[in-house]
Amino acid sequence: MLGHNYMEPALFHSVPDFTGDSLYLARVSAKAQAQIIVFCGVRFMAETAKSLNPSRKVLLPSAKGGCSLAESVTAADVRALKALYPGVPTVTYINCYQEVKAEVDYVCTSGNAEQVVKHILAQGHKKIIFLPDEYLAANVARETGMAIVYPRRNGKLEQAAEPAGASTVMIGWRGRCEVHDKFTVEDVTNARKQFPDVTVLAHPECSPEVVEAADFSGSTTQMIKYVENMKSGRYLLLTECSMGDNIAAKNPRREMIRLCSVRCPHMNEISLEETLESLRQERYEVTVDEDVRQRSMTSLERMLAIG
Ligand code: SF4
Repeated sequence: MLGHNYMEPALFHSVPDFTGDSLYLARVSAKAQAQIIVFCGVRFMAETAKSLNPSRKVLLPSAKGGCSLAESVTAADVRALKALYPGVPTVTYINCYQEVKAEVDYVCTSGNAEQVVKHILAQGHKKIIFLPDEYLAANVARETGMAIVYPRRNGKLEQAAEPAGASTVMIGWRGRCEVHDKFTVEDVTNARKQFPDVTVLAHPECSPEVVEAADFSGSTTQMIKYVENMKSGRYLLLTECSMGDNIAAKNPRREMIRLCSVRCPHMNEISLEETLESLRQERYEVTVDEDVRQRSMTSLERMLAIG
């Protein structure tokens, strides 16, 4: 039983054998020996588990378990982008469906996106297509010194003008996480006014302006480690709300401030009750077309090899 960091506290701290971010859970599922993997997360994560360990039965406790980012891009979109930018390496954030992973050269997570981009740049490439998260792409582009453009979508895709003099250019996509998109710079300013000693941590799915206003930005695991490495203190986590609850439960000496209207509706569908029904009825089985699975393995294995 695998539990993503965004699971509600009652579930997160009880039934999963392994908890963590999507990269860690992908690694665990690749090596799982059990016949059945129950993935307490969303569909794209369960599809990744099934692809990495196809002989196991993978169950998702919710019939939907969607994701606004995963729904923002299709395999046809990737093919259209590759036709628009022939020969340009393609990277997708893991938050997409398997058909998309089957079309790209690399998969990355928020924990290793920068490493994957640097790995491609080190091979001498000057352009990288990075899908589907507009904000993660912009945050990684800033960290790696790349310019960023977004192709225009006027019925058909058109190249966007590139800034003069840019030595490396990232080609992004306008997908957004509906949860992290809600955080604003004003939220950070208001929290600092009320709690001058607060440390603000932002997930890189937040806008570049919010990330800039924060003290630290990193994947869910990197944020957890940051807080756990501090002996005490007060923290504002700009990410899915349950994660703040989960850290607070484990670290009673840290004070977690949350903007608790911000709960992912997709992650929220996975409850203890649904998980029990999933085990009882062996539902909802996640399958991946074998051709798609095989084509997605190259990009997934490259991600796991990079770190
Ligand atoms: S938090 Fe955002 S990226 Fe994560 S599953 Fe929910 S909608 Fe998707």
